[in-house]
Amino acid sequence: MPPTGYKVAFPMLSGDGSRTGFRGVSLGGRIVYGALDDARCGYGRRHGSPARGCDCGFYCLHSASEAQELTCATDCRDAVILQVSVLGAYTRYERGIRYARQRVRNVRVGPCRCGHPAQAFVRTETGLPGWRSLRGTCAACAAGLRLFPLTEFARLAGDWVNVTTDAPVRPADRRDEVLPQLAAEAALIQARLDQFQERLAELNWPPAPEEK
Ligand SMILES: [Zn+2]
Ligand SMILES: [Zn+2]
Repeated sequence: MPPTGYKVAFPMLSGDGSRTGFRGVSLGGRIVYGALDDARCGYGRRHGSPARGCDCGFYCLHSASEAQELTCATDCRDAVILQVSVLGAYTRYERGIRYARQRVRNVRVGPCRCGHPAQAFVRTETGLPGWRSLRGTCAACAAGLRLFPLTEFARLAGDWVNVTTDAPVRPADRRDEVLPQLAAEAALIQARLDQFQERLAELNWPPAPEEK
């Protein structure tokens, strides 16, 4: 079993909306990586990563709660917590691991800025060339904004990727859009049915049972 670790990252959506990825914090802040990817040198040096004499490479912590603490920092409040499998060469330290290749298994989206559990992503004002940052939001705070479903994020990331929130993610993020629509349709059908029954009553239908 490859080692498991936890880290924080910013969820990203490609400009054309066809790919999702993650932007690192600190040294990895200029690089967007996929859910299965190799580390690249954060300084742009031409060597495999990690390398001797350079501090680049993927990093993760052993504990989810330590990663969670990092999201308290103001500039990391929109970051998500990744659970990753460490692949390839790695060095184990007291608090974490530095390594060459990783597979993101779970993306945990923290609460909306209002404190309610996130229900979807929205695009933020920040990004990198070709990539836009996303952040978790509840439906109420995102009223009028274009939502990017959490399940869609997971689907584009890779079929092994799970997205979770502090509240369980509902099977369909579209429920919020679909429910009012269904309710409206049901009301319409009910109204037609009432009309229909009224008409039948006018025509004395159903007939009273015949007397023998
Ligand atoms: Zn390097
Ligand atoms: Zn909110």
